[in-house]
Amino acid sequence: MSRFNGYNFKDQKVLVRVDFNVPLNDKYEITDDTRMTATIATIQKIINDGGRVILMSHFGRPKDGPAEKYSLKHLVKHLGSLLNKNILFADDSIGDKAKELSDSMKAGDVLLLENLRFHKEEEKGDEGFAKKLAILGDVYVNDAFGTAHRAHASTAVIAKFFPADKKMFGLLMEGEVESAEKVLHKSEKPFTAILGGAKVSDKILIIENLLQRADHIIIGGGMAYTFFKAMGGEIGNSLVEAERIDTAKELITKAEAKGVKIHLPKDSIIADKFDANANTKTADNKSIPPGWMGLDIGPEAISQFVDVILQSKTLLWNGPMGVFEMEKFQAGTKAVAEAIAEATQKGAFSLVGGGDSVAAVNQFGYNDKVSYVSTGGGAMLEYFEGKELPGIAAIKNS
Ligand code: AMP
Repeated sequence: MSRFNGYNFKDQKVLVRVDFNVPLNDKYEITDDTRMTATIATIQKIINDGGRVILMSHFGRPKDGPAEKYSLKHLVKHLGSLLNKNILFADDSIGDKAKELSDSMKAGDVLLLENLRFHKEEEKGDEGFAKKLAILGDVYVNDAFGTAHRAHASTAVIAKFFPADKKMFGLLMEGEVESAEKVLHKSEKPFTAILGGAKVSDKILIIENLLQRADHIIIGGGMAYTFFKAMGGEIGNSLVEAERIDTAKELITKAEAKGVKIHLPKDSIIADKFDANANTKTADNKSIPPGWMGLDIGPEAISQFVDVILQSKTLLWNGPMGVFEMEKFQAGTKAVAEAIAEATQKGAFSLVGGGDSVAAVNQFGYNDKVSYVSTGGGAMLEYFEGKELPGIAAIKNS
């Protein structure tokens, strides 16, 4: 059983770090509550045990102390409807008022603290600030995977003020850590990583790290053209990072030395402009005509990638295969999502993460057909780059 589920929170004041950094429109209405719903099971379990829940989160990037736009009070009503209860709110995350409110809570009560980033000390990882937060609770639960790569006061430093048996991951964080570990450290072979998106520069470290672990690396999206350029291809007006051409060459050489197969798309859907209504045709990736640009992988590349995916037992996907936001250029991303779903149905373990690939699996309706959809963009990337995430280390290594 999970450590969190095995714990009885009865009569405990439980300080839970969540990631409630949801998007709001100009009327302060929540336009996507995924980050809130993702942590409801954790909150509900504490309530059901008869514990008291004290929620803390960052919200946006306030520059200079409190600001109406970044107040977590805008989330109180919606949180109340998700949990079907009245939510208490403290208009400062630390101080006498927050302490009084947390001390007066009854079993099953939920208190939301004001935006942690109204205090500069949060992002600085200030110990004094972490201590002022810590005195509000008896137990510390971290359920904010989205900020696990930050060594902030509430995500990492605070852990030192709780004994080992009084700090743990919440259910969301447990799920994220477990599936990421399964892919990186316990992967069943063949392990295939599918990387896409716009830039090679964002993915170099992840490719380097995966060269130690993966059997196949599929590269699609805008980043693929830098690799073709590196191999002497004509790529027309396709996206290219000139200063990464040497890096691309080096990665290809390293992969060969390690026996890792790098799969680059044979062809592309090319367009005469970056536009939803552009004229399009199919072209080999080594000879894209001048004035044309590759905006999606082509039909040959789709069958090439699908073959590899269907033979894999572990799959990691980060980044779209093309400009999937435009209908004319979404076939590649859709086909990859479908193949991952099919491989999963045949028993493979699949993890999808990173903002755009998550948006794609949601948009094409495959989110419940893959094994795990990660909520953490930057955190997930850093994990797969092989870095130790401060939010995970603070709990695991103590
Ligand atoms: P990233 O944030 O690096 O994962 O990149 C995601 C973005 O890359 C999406 O908005 C895609 O539209 C874009 N993208 C994917 N393929 C291409 C391409 N061939 N040319 C230009 N942009 C692309």
